[in-house]
Amino acid sequence: MQTHARAVVIGGGCVGAAILYGLTKRGWTDVALLERTQLTAGSTWHAAGLIPSYARSINIGRMIAKTIEIYEGLEAETGQHVGWHKCGQLRIANTRDRLDEYKSYMSVATVQGIRAELVTPQEARDLWPLLENNKDMLAALYHPDDGHIAPADVTQAMAKGARDRGAKIYLNTEVKGFERLAGGEWKIITNNGEIICEHIISATGNYARQTGAMLGLEIPAIPILHQYWITDAVPEIMERKRQGLPEMPILRDEGFEGYLREEGDGLMFGPYEKTEHLKLFAENGVPEWFGADLVEEDFDAVAWNWEAAMEMVPALGRVGIKANVRGPFQMTADELPLVGPAWGLENVWIAEGVPGGILWGGAIGYYLSERIVEGANSLDTSELDPRRFGDYANKEWTRQKVRESWGTHAELHFPGQDMPAARPQKSAPSYD
Ligand SMILES: Cc1cc2nc3c(=O)[nH]c(=O)nc-3n(C[C@H](O)[C@H](O)[C@H](O)COP(=O)(O)OP(=O)(O)OC[C@H]3O[C@@H](n4cnc5c(N)ncnc54)[C@H](O)[C@@H]3O)c2cc1C
Repeated sequence: MQTHARAVVIGGGCVGAAILYGLTKRGWTDVALLERTQLTAGSTWHAAGLIPSYARSINIGRMIAKTIEIYEGLEAETGQHVGWHKCGQLRIANTRDRLDEYKSYMSVATVQGIRAELVTPQEARDLWPLLENNKDMLAALYHPDDGHIAPADVTQAMAKGARDRGAKIYLNTEVKGFERLAGGEWKIITNNGEIICEHIISATGNYARQTGAMLGLEIPAIPILHQYWITDAVPEIMERKRQGLPEMPILRDEGFEGYLREEGDGLMFGPYEKTEHLKLFAENGVPEWFGADLVEEDFDAVAWNWEAAMEMVPALGRVGIKANVRGPFQMTADELPLVGPAWGLENVWIAEGVPGGILWGGAIGYYLSERIVEGANSLDTSELDPRRFGDYANKEWTRQKVRESWGTHAELHFPGQDMPAARPQKSAPSYD
């Protein structure tokens, strides 16, 4: 391994690869990435690959649009296929409140530059004819430019783009510690030697709390377990393909709280776990035995979602199951990544706690590298600032908030809504 680099990225998931790519795009070519095993071996390889642009924050929507822009350019630039399916996304509103949410979002989408439209129940059924039994539908929100991508392929494409511009990637290289040198540089100690650098960027996925501890930081994120299933071939989908019809959009319906999309000739169904059924992972650090593994299926956690989905989409219940994919990924109290400068440490940058590393990868790579290389961002990224939680965000607070944030993911959220879990962690002098 080389002994010096201007910047070193730790972690070879989608997020780390995107940062390496972003740095080289901005002209920093003396950069390296250290990965403890193989690229994508963390949470990245088993992600569902969904890229939903729905965000009620103006800047977050713009950042997601940047992800899509970057991914769409990768194939031409690197020659690597990324498996991008721009099939669109459809969100069904069954209640007045949800419809209000989508209506209020429409003006935000316009400012973000995101294409979105409200469609009638008939138009929604034309887009998703397998949704036969939703009787409550009032309208649906349609994003024609959303889609899904192959997580490992897009990661490898960004790694290739970075390598082509001079970046080095060291596999089977695990970071074991850090040392600040008298000159202000950082020494990174690995099982494969030492490397001295100006900037450290930490993107270690499920290991965030462990990496943070080596730097003296308590990272307010804890992994959760999530799962999706892939079905056998669905005759209706095969027939659509035979007729040359387009892939159906990704479907989300508050009636079953989950996502449904085509996967090959079958369907992928990813139901959202409610707080009471949600399991956390590696609360005390990722165990030694865990590598690029999956964990055991947990059907009971999402039995109601399955029942409701099969009622609404009968084709889902008529075929067998081909695979269950259940694994960990990081979650934060507000479901947003922790991206930006580490608190109290110079030239240490965090890209941790990313609950959607495929969705976020491109944007984090772009905006974090902009911040590091240019010294500031062209867009307000403060909603992702890793310092946005105070020191009240200890492990127990994070545990409770993470269970709440993912456990209510598919529920209705009102603008600026404060969620109740983990109170009163911090109280005012007048609290009593
Ligand atoms: C069932 C399921 C479905 C999902 N669907 C989606 C989806 O549709 N869209 C989406 O955006 N996200 C989805 N996700 C989440 C997604 O998988 C993660 O958010 C994403 O992979 C995180 O990427 P990352 O690069 O931050 O972390 P990882 O992919 O985990 O990469 C971190 C890397 O850091 C390395 N590392 C850790 N410690 C060290 C060290 N000390 N030294 C060197 N290397 C180290 C690890 O080996 C690992 O390779 C899903 C997750 C699951 C479980």
